[in-house]
Amino acid sequence: MNPGINCTMQMADSLCGFMGAGGLLMSTSGAENEKRFLSAGARTKSEYLVQLAEEETVNGASQGSFQSVIFSTPPGAETEEDEPKRSPPVETAVHPLPWEGSATPELHGTKAGRRIPGGSDMPRQFPKISLSEVDEQVRLLAEKVYASALKEEDTKEALAMFTVPEDCPIGLHQAKEHELLREMAEQQSEESAKRKKSFKLIRSQSMSLQIPVSADWALSVVSPLLSPVSTGPCLPEGFPEYQRVTISGDYCAGITVEDYEQASKSLLKALLIREKYSKLAYHRFPRTTAKFLRSAENEKWTVEDEILPEICPCPREGEDPYNMEDIPENLNYELQMKDGIIYVYDTPEALKQNEPRSLPYPDLETFAIDLSHVLAMIADGPHVSTPPNHHMRLTLRWKTYCHRRLNFVGSKFYLHEMLNEMAELKELKGVPHRDFYNVRKVDTHIHAAACMNQKHLLKFIQTTCKTEADRVVLEKDGQKITLKEVFTKLNMDPYDLTVDSLDVHAGRQTFHRFDKFNSKYNPVGASELREIYLKTDNYINGEYFARIIKEVAYGLEESKYQHAEPRLSIYGRSPDEWENLSQWFILHKVHSPNMQWIIQVPRIYDIFRSRKIVPNFAKMLENVFLPLFEATVNPQKHKEVHVFLKYVTGFDSVDDESKHSDHMFSYKSPKPEAWTAESNPPYSYYLFHMYANIMVLNNLRKERGLNTFQFRPHCGEAGSITHLVSAFLTSDNISHGLNLKKSPVLQYLYYLAQVPIAMSPLSNNSLFLEYSKSPLKEFLHKGLCVSLSTDDPMQFHYTKEALMEEYAIAAQLWKLSTCDVCEIARNSVLQSGLSHQEKMHFLGANYLKDGPEGNDIRRTNVAQIRMAYRYETLCNELSFLVDAVKSGTMDTQAQ
Ligand SMILES: [Zn+2]
Repeated sequence: MNPGINCTMQMADSLCGFMGAGGLLMSTSGAENEKRFLSAGARTKSEYLVQLAEEETVNGASQGSFQSVIFSTPPGAETEEDEPKRSPPVETAVHPLPWEGSATPELHGTKAGRRIPGGSDMPRQFPKISLSEVDEQVRLLAEKVYASALKEEDTKEALAMFTVPEDCPIGLHQAKEHELLREMAEQQSEESAKRKKSFKLIRSQSMSLQIPVSADWALSVVSPLLSPVSTGPCLPEGFPEYQRVTISGDYCAGITVEDYEQASKSLLKALLIREKYSKLAYHRFPRTTAKFLRSAENEKWTVEDEILPEICPCPREGEDPYNMEDIPENLNYELQMKDGIIYVYDTPEALKQNEPRSLPYPDLETFAIDLSHVLAMIADGPHVSTPPNHHMRLTLRWKTYCHRRLNFVGSKFYLHEMLNEMAELKELKGVPHRDFYNVRKVDTHIHAAACMNQKHLLKFIQTTCKTEADRVVLEKDGQKITLKEVFTKLNMDPYDLTVDSLDVHAGRQTFHRFDKFNSKYNPVGASELREIYLKTDNYINGEYFARIIKEVAYGLEESKYQHAEPRLSIYGRSPDEWENLSQWFILHKVHSPNMQWIIQVPRIYDIFRSRKIVPNFAKMLENVFLPLFEATVNPQKHKEVHVFLKYVTGFDSVDDESKHSDHMFSYKSPKPEAWTAESNPPYSYYLFHMYANIMVLNNLRKERGLNTFQFRPHCGEAGSITHLVSAFLTSDNISHGLNLKKSPVLQYLYYLAQVPIAMSPLSNNSLFLEYSKSPLKEFLHKGLCVSLSTDDPMQFHYTKEALMEEYAIAAQLWKLSTCDVCEIARNSVLQSGLSHQEKMHFLGANYLKDGPEGNDIRRTNVAQIRMAYRYETLCNELSFLVDAVKSGTMDTQAQ
C-alpha cells in the first residue's frame, strides 16, 4: 500500500470526493481522438472501433503487420529490410546451437532495438521510433488498442477483454471448433505440412544435441532430456540426477503451425522490447533469456552484454556511513527539463545550442509505440456476435498458446514435485548448518510509515508519553503544544490505550475500500498522532519516526538473516523535499546494514494541482528529479543528498490502482509541461516519466561511478491490466502483480523474462483479494520469480517478526515445502537492492549464473534438483520460441 498518500487522501476528502469525479474531463488528446472518430465518418466511439476493425479486415494486410514494424536505426547501424534477408542455405543438417552463430536471418525488425553498447566508451542512445515510420496498419491498430483499453476502463468491466474466456463455456467451445477446423485445413495444405516437418526436424536436432557437447551445459538443455536412443547424458559437474519430466512426439499437436510461429515471433519481440528498456536503465535481465534472444538473432551472447545495476556495498564495520569526505567534484553541467525529462548539457553554450550531452533520452512516442506492440498481444475485442477480425483471432491464438504453455509448466511442476520431493528433501538434509531460519530473506516491499506492528507503535507512544510528556511536539497556528496537551485535547489517557483503540489494523471493513484503509494510517483516527510519530518533517524533525524505524532495524540486525526495503515518500510538492529527507536520515543516523531504502512517489498530481501547489505535471516531476540530478552533477553543494543517495536503491510508484483516469494514454498524450488540467494522468503516463528520468539519471551516475537506481512500482494490485504492460517495459521488478492471473500472455511474458514480483497475500487479503484466492502458489509452481513481502506490518501483522509471519502463513496454508520457502527467500535476495557483494555472500559467488551452477546450496538451502528443474524448464520454453523462428527461416530457404 502507500502510507505516503494518507495525508493527501484527507485533503482529497475535503475536495468533495475526487474519487467520484471520474469521467468528466476530456483531455486534449482525448479530444483529438474524438475528432478522429468524427472525421473518420463514424459517429460514436464504438462505431469507430468497428470501422477500424472492418478496415483492417478489408485491407487484409494486417496479418503480421505487427511483426513488420521497423525500428529506426541508430547512426551507423544498417537499416532493416521489410522482408527477412535470404541467407545462404545451411550446409550441414546440424541445427545450430542456441547462441552459436548460424545462417538464419534476423528476427524481424528487432536488431536496432537491441544493440545497445554496454561499454562506457561508446555513447548510449535511446533508439527512437517515430510514428511516421511505422505503417498505417500498425498506427491504426495502436490507436485501436489504446481506445479499447480506455473503453475497458470506462465500462468498469476491467479485464473483461484481456482474459481467457474460461468462464464462458460457449465461447470456449466455439473457439475450439474453430481451431479444429483450421487444423484440419492445415493438414491438407502441402505448405504447412512442409513447415511442420522442418520444425520437427529442428526440434529433433536440438534434442539429439542435448548430450552436453561443451562446457556450457545450457547448450544442452534445449528441450526435455533424452530421446530413447541416447546413451545417457554425461551431466556436467554440479548437475543433479533426478527424474525429469519429458514430453515427446508431435510438438505442434493442438496448435497450428501458423499460430505457433505467430505466437513465438510476438513473444520474442516483446522480450526484446523489455530487454532494450532494461539495459538502458541498468535494470537486470536474466542471462538465460538473453542467450536465447541472441540465438534467435544468430548472435552469440557474451558476459560483456550483461548490464547490471550499480549498488553501493554496505559500509564495513568501523566505517562511517555518513562520511562527508572524498565527495566528487562539481562537473559544472547544465540541467534543463524538456518534455518532462531532465536533459544534461556539458556547458551553458551547449544548452543555448540545444546540444545535450550524449545520454539516452527516451521519448513518449517511441514508448507508446513499443507499448502498443505488447498491448496488442493481450488486447482482444469484446466478445460480441460479429465475426472477430483478423487481429482479434490472432490475439486469441496468442492467448491460447500462452495459456497452454502455462498450464503445461504448472502441470510439469506438479509431476516434478511428485517424483522428486523426497530427493529434494534428502539434498537439504545433507546441508550442514543451513536451514530455513538462517537463509537470507528480504522483505522486498514494505512502507516505512507502517514498518512496525501495532503493538510496537502502541508501546512507543506510551513510553514517550511517560518519559517526555512535557516536550513540545507540535506547533499549530503559532502555538506550541506538548505531548501531554495533545492527549488531553484528544481526551485520552495514553495509559488506557490498547491496540483496539489505536485502530490501525486493517480488517474486514477495509476490503475493497482503499479510502478506509488509508485512514488506518492515523493512530486513534487522529492525524496529529500520525504527524508526531510517523512523519520525517515535523516540529521534532522526525525524531520519533526515526527512533521507531531504528528499533525495527535493530530487530532485523538481531535476527541477522532478515532484511527490509522500506519506502520513504517524496511527493514532488517542492524542490526542497530531498534536502529535508537527507538531513533527517543523517541527523538521526537511520542507516542500518539490514535496510535498503526505496523512495516512493505517490501518484497524486491532481491534488497538488487543484490546491495550486504545482502549475503542471512537469513541475511535479522536476521537484522529484531535478534535485537528484543536481546532487549528481555537483555533490559538493549537496553533500547530504549525495550521502543519502548511496543508501537509496530504487523508486516506487504508489497509489490506489483502481482509481480511474479519464485520459487515454497514447503517443498523442500532451507533454508534461502541457498537462495543466486538474485531472490526474493515467498510470502508464506516470510510469513512463518516472522511468525516463531514472534512466537518464542512472546513465549520468554510472558515468560518474555512482550507484544507480531501480524502478520498482506497485503494479497489478488492482485496476487495468494495461498497468502490467507498462511495468513490463519500464520496471526492474514489481510489487503485487495479482492481475497477471487474468492475462495468460502477460503472465507467460513475466515468466519468460523472469520479472521478479514481490507478493503480499496478507495485505491483499485485507484489501483486494482473499488469501485463499491469491495466485502466489500457482505463480511459484509455474516458475515465476516471486518473493514474499509484508507491505504494512502495522496494518496486517500480529507478531514482532512480520516477515516470518508472512512466510509461516503461506507455508501452512499452501503446504509449501522447505525447498519452496527457501526458493522464495532466494528470489527475494535476487530481487532486492542488495549490492553485488552482499548477494555473492548470501547466495554464492556464482549467483549471476542460472541453474544449479549459480546456486550455493550451503548458503541458500535450495536443492540443486529444484534449480536444475527450473533452469531446464525455462530453457525448454524459450527454445520452443526460438525453434519456431528458425524453422520459419528454413522454409524460406527451402523455397
Ligand atoms: Zn504497498
